[in-house]
Amino acid sequence: MTENSVEKSPNVELNWARVGEKWRKKWSESRIFESEPQSHKKKYFLTVAYPYPNSPQHVGHGRTYTLADVHARYKRMKSYNVLFPMGFHYTGTPIVSMSQRIKSNDLELIETFKQIYKIPTNIISSFKEPKKIASFFHEEIKHGMIEMGYSIDWTREFTTIDKGYSKFISWQFRNLRKNGLIVQGSHPVGWCPQDQNPVSQHDTIGDVEPELIEYVLVKFKFEEQYILPTATLRPETIFGVTNLWINPDIKYVIALVNNEKWIVTKDAAKKLEFLNLSISIISEIDGFELIGKSAFDRLRNKHVPIFPASFVDPYSGTGIVMSVPAHSPYDYQALVDLRKDADILKKYHITVDIAPIKVIHSDTFLSNDRSPAESIVASYSITDQNDSKLEEATNKLYSDEFHNGILLPDIAIIGNLSVVKARETIREKIINEEIGATMYELKNAVKCRCGTPCVVKLLTNQWFINYGDEGWKKLAHELVNNMEILPEEIRQEFINVIDWLKERACARKSGLGTKLPWDNEWIIESLADSVIYMAYYPLSRYISNTIDSQNSEHKVLADNLSDSFFDYVLLGKNDRDLVAKDSKISVHLLEKIKNEFLYYYPVDSRHSGRDLVPNHLVFFIFNHAAIFTKNKWPKQIVVNGSVLMEGKKMSKSLGNIIPLRHAIDEFGADSVRLTMLASAEILQDSDFSFDLVKGIRSKLFEIYRTISDHKNIFTTTQNSLDHNELEDTWFSSRIQHIILDTTSAIEKFRIREALHNILYLMDNDLQWYQKRKLAKNKSKYNNYLKEFFDIRIKLLSPFAPFFCEEVWEIMGNHSFISLAQWPEANNSKISLEAEDNERLIQDVILDIQKITKVTKIVPKKIMIYTSSTIKSIIYKKLLDKMQRRSTANFGVLMKEFVNDNEVKDFVKRNPDLVKKMIDDILSESLEVRHRRMKTNSFNELIPLQDAISLLISEIGNQQLEVRIYSEDNNDKYDPKQKSKFARPYKPAIYIE
Ligand SMILES: [Zn+2]
Repeated sequence: MTENSVEKSPNVELNWARVGEKWRKKWSESRIFESEPQSHKKKYFLTVAYPYPNSPQHVGHGRTYTLADVHARYKRMKSYNVLFPMGFHYTGTPIVSMSQRIKSNDLELIETFKQIYKIPTNIISSFKEPKKIASFFHEEIKHGMIEMGYSIDWTREFTTIDKGYSKFISWQFRNLRKNGLIVQGSHPVGWCPQDQNPVSQHDTIGDVEPELIEYVLVKFKFEEQYILPTATLRPETIFGVTNLWINPDIKYVIALVNNEKWIVTKDAAKKLEFLNLSISIISEIDGFELIGKSAFDRLRNKHVPIFPASFVDPYSGTGIVMSVPAHSPYDYQALVDLRKDADILKKYHITVDIAPIKVIHSDTFLSNDRSPAESIVASYSITDQNDSKLEEATNKLYSDEFHNGILLPDIAIIGNLSVVKARETIREKIINEEIGATMYELKNAVKCRCGTPCVVKLLTNQWFINYGDEGWKKLAHELVNNMEILPEEIRQEFINVIDWLKERACARKSGLGTKLPWDNEWIIESLADSVIYMAYYPLSRYISNTIDSQNSEHKVLADNLSDSFFDYVLLGKNDRDLVAKDSKISVHLLEKIKNEFLYYYPVDSRHSGRDLVPNHLVFFIFNHAAIFTKNKWPKQIVVNGSVLMEGKKMSKSLGNIIPLRHAIDEFGADSVRLTMLASAEILQDSDFSFDLVKGIRSKLFEIYRTISDHKNIFTTTQNSLDHNELEDTWFSSRIQHIILDTTSAIEKFRIREALHNILYLMDNDLQWYQKRKLAKNKSKYNNYLKEFFDIRIKLLSPFAPFFCEEVWEIMGNHSFISLAQWPEANNSKISLEAEDNERLIQDVILDIQKITKVTKIVPKKIMIYTSSTIKSIIYKKLLDKMQRRSTANFGVLMKEFVNDNEVKDFVKRNPDLVKKMIDDILSESLEVRHRRMKTNSFNELIPLQDAISLLISEIGNQQLEVRIYSEDNNDKYDPKQKSKFARPYKPAIYIE
């Protein structure tokens, strides 16, 4: 294909690669996305989570960035001075552990790089050096972003290991510490035993946040010298324990734990070790050896028997379970089953001679002779312990007792307390008296990126950010309450996370990043150094990380940055002259930097994927609340769902990861962008499918061809706007509606809806309009079409920027559409009457087609009768009454009509017709009803007369005679007395 072939012949495929390259070059040369403070212009500062450069971006990454870019482009067209910058997040262990895997010749990783990402072998071998990995993928991702058409201001780019950035993060941390928000202590964290480092979402395979469970261990005595610790989440039920469960088929160990001899599973012994208990294993013991013996409960001074249970999981808790049959459906059912199992009873010489002990009262389960567990097992018709309904029954009972339960009055220590209170009270008591202890484990099976299964570790001397601080939580709530969250339905999730968040480890012993300023053994971790960096963007281009003599008077050297600089620029503290002197820059430059910050901050919008709500986004809120004054708090968060590939989650094992740049090569950036956005509303997962991307590409091509076909309307001036016909008024009115609807959809991030308007609804309008024109033998080329195309391309341009620039140029424009004004609807062009006109014509055509299809008549004559004046009056009154009295009750409405002199005679004679008219109204949308109420006098004859030519061409016979009469017309041709069936907006039809 030659350079000019696209312009010459619209019948060839659009060359997407060439169009992409052409506009990337033009945008870059004209620097149109670089933003400078402009005092007369309103700014809009939006950011999206900067990427981790440890792999190329794939299609799944693209959605959040594309949404942010659409937002940026939309705001730019709304005349804002938009700043949309980007940085690169090098911090953390993933890049380092990746380089270790390359060093150790990890074939799986090397194959992934080769096969999926097509990285040359010599480059892969350079990845032994972590920074090589980061800088390689940094460039890769950046190119992808440029090829996707993201309107990013690249002059502010930085990485999180730049010296200037480290100075900024040190400032952030000293600031938090000064406010008492950094604490040191022992806390449980998710942990990789291999790397000897805490793990959070970013460090795990599949980006899973490790979730911790805190158990209470109740220590039962066994044969005087041993302890049988049972792990429970419900220590308040301890007084209801009737027996213990042990798995006879697994091995246990006897271990010396802080001078006590505990019997636990091997796995539990390992877990306890990470919790800093001193453990040494003495011997092994088979589970069956314990069955039939008894354990001693020191709280109640009583023995309980030990029974066998195969459901006891060696990997959960300690492998010893306390049985509370009155309040645990599993325990209840297991006892029922055991009683029936003669073989087992005989094998272990046991008898099950126990009754459930009820300890909790709740109004939901009031039966006197049955325990709550028995009641719920019965109500779910559960028959044995393998029944899957047990899980649901358990959740229901636990939840009910947690929220509504009260301990029975005769229970020692915790009698009469609510379950919530009792749990805390008994926990504290048994731990203090060393009858109990605490144990943590992971709720979910999480693997570190190095492949090692994670555990819970009790870290000592670890640095934490104290998100549990009550005062801080209050501020975070205040910030969220004053912030717009899109979509609004996700607000509660933010509130919940703020409430449950506690201390969080903020430093690691290894990885890339900034050292903790007061303790150089530690490196600040990646979810802690990425929470207020948006404030660094306005500064970054003034900070030089290396000595750069050319720019020395325009930049501040990172080495010279101190806390006083950031205090002055970001918080307005300290003396200007002193700060300038300390930083070795002019007062002028210092003021310039500060003013730039003040101009752009706060963040107007923060975009992110939904998976970052429970960590990054909430930390972003907390840290802004702690560090910045209220007028610098972020104003909006936009959250989107993820991307599926052909309906499936993307994963390496499924081999369905498509690198973004490959998708761009194959389909063009615009089609990829639209596919990500068009298949789902924002919070849902969108589905990237090849059929969809191909469909969208041909849709774009169709738009391209239509506009190319009409090329001459853009170059010749016509003054046809003044003699407008019915369809012109309608077309123009529709355009205004589309502008209004699309704009409000974008404002609320209902992107799918916006695209539906632009890509599909506008097509319907265009087709109808052209049909009407063609039937009248009118030229297809006119100024209404020009307006239509102009608006359509503008509305589409934030979504498909390359395509729209190209088409914009074909339309004879010499400016960038990226900088064009967003269309404003002209309310004076909205005509409700015109919309009713065209609707009526469409309805009548459909009715005629239905009749001819059913009767199989080839019509020679068609008579159309519009309803009489009196019917129109009644219709209007009905609309008004139904809205005012908000009733559609026939009797009520008739009663009012009977007292109405204008209509009472007609109404009394034709009650059925009134009933039909009520049904007609009910079948219309509220919008249409409202429109018809506002339309003063609607004369159906006018549009129908106007559309006779269209009726003839649509029904398809040039000899066809079409006549339109009002029912009131005494000269009408009405051989079958059809006209009396006419109703407003529902003309009667006679065909012969
Ligand atoms: Zn690891």
